[in-house]
Amino acid sequence: MKILVVNCGSSSLKYQLIDMEDEKVLAKGLVERIGIDGSILTHKVNGEKHVVSEPIKDHRVAVKLVLEALVDKQHGVIKDMSEISAVGHRVVHGGEQYSDAVIIDNKVMESLKDCSKLAPLHNPPNIIGINACKAIMPNAPMVAVFDTAFHHTMPKYAYIYPLPYELYERYGIRKYGFHGTSHRFVSEEAARLMGKDISELKIITCHLGNGASICAVDRGKSIDTNMGFTPLAGLAMGTRCGDIDPAIIPFLTNEIGMSIDEISNIMNNESGILGMSGISSDFRDVEEIASFKHDRRAQLALDVFYYRVKSFIGSYVAVLDGVDAIVFTAGVGENSSIGRAEICSGLTYLGITIDEEKNNIRGKATEITTANSKTKVFVIPTNEELVIARDTKFLVQKKISHKSK
Ligand code: ADP
Repeated sequence: MKILVVNCGSSSLKYQLIDMEDEKVLAKGLVERIGIDGSILTHKVNGEKHVVSEPIKDHRVAVKLVLEALVDKQHGVIKDMSEISAVGHRVVHGGEQYSDAVIIDNKVMESLKDCSKLAPLHNPPNIIGINACKAIMPNAPMVAVFDTAFHHTMPKYAYIYPLPYELYERYGIRKYGFHGTSHRFVSEEAARLMGKDISELKIITCHLGNGASICAVDRGKSIDTNMGFTPLAGLAMGTRCGDIDPAIIPFLTNEIGMSIDEISNIMNNESGILGMSGISSDFRDVEEIASFKHDRRAQLALDVFYYRVKSFIGSYVAVLDGVDAIVFTAGVGENSSIGRAEICSGLTYLGITIDEEKNNIRGKATEITTANSKTKVFVIPTNEELVIARDTKFLVQKKISHKSK
């Protein structure tokens, strides 16, 4: 069974074609600048790149080009479209309704539109991507896999905000959490590496990328996470501010005369590592300037980031009543040995001792603590696409076996 995994942003489309026999990625790629000048498709097979630069006016044209690349005589990997058994779509927000992936039908499409209110920046492009694939592949089953689904197991006291309860009842204002497929994948991988059943383990997963969140995973279930109603909450991120005193918002309006749109833009696009350092949202740049140029603001930005990661880990140790393993993943978590060392240097009360040599290994799942470390620390490359493909395969096979009964 071959599954196409699609992740649509407002002007981009990422894809992977995965052969589920051996979970091998047959091809992957990215369409950028959809609907704007300079549209480009980069298609990769076995590391070899093939680039198509031509106007791509909308997501439907983008899907058409992706399929053409997949069946192309020279750099294609399948003979024709009918080899694609199903399409798995990443959908950011599943609201309160979806605790698991779901086969997309008209009813699901309606509720995805409803969820757009909760994620106006993310869900609409996801829906556009689903519609574009449906139009071009009308016979392939489509599955939605939600970033929010894994966090459905959070207890109510963890997801209710201390606001008037009616705001939750009427408008769904509560913590939802994000990066669920990643937290789920790396916690399961950690259990596998420890040779234990996940039902015996308490794990804290740190997804530290441009967007970043931490999750407390109790015996395989998310019981708390630090993104919230939106992916703006929690840690300091590349350009997002994370948790701040909410009274700063009326202050900026009343005292400085900023509009809500301006404030929202500042909090989403001009804050975090970029805002604090004044240099870049890219951790590599900021780490380099802090180390080699001894830039104080760059160092401060990193210190704020490490401090917040550390304090959320501490909070989740309390929530879990102990911890067996901590996992680092995503761009910064997987690659920044300095960051991991800084964060873990303050976790001696957990009996953590980092093995410096192992902490420098890149690109594969590794335990980075010494043999006698009481709590294990892992670096595990995340693979959200594989989770989406696995969920899609599971649902499609279930449907087929249901039909044949
Ligand atoms: P997202 O998917 O949220 O856009 P990623 O998980 O791709 O983010 O992470 C991107 C971040 O990872 C960037 O800030 C980048 O600087 C950081 N990163 C990548 N490689 C390294 C590295 N070697 N050292 C430090 N940070 C790194």
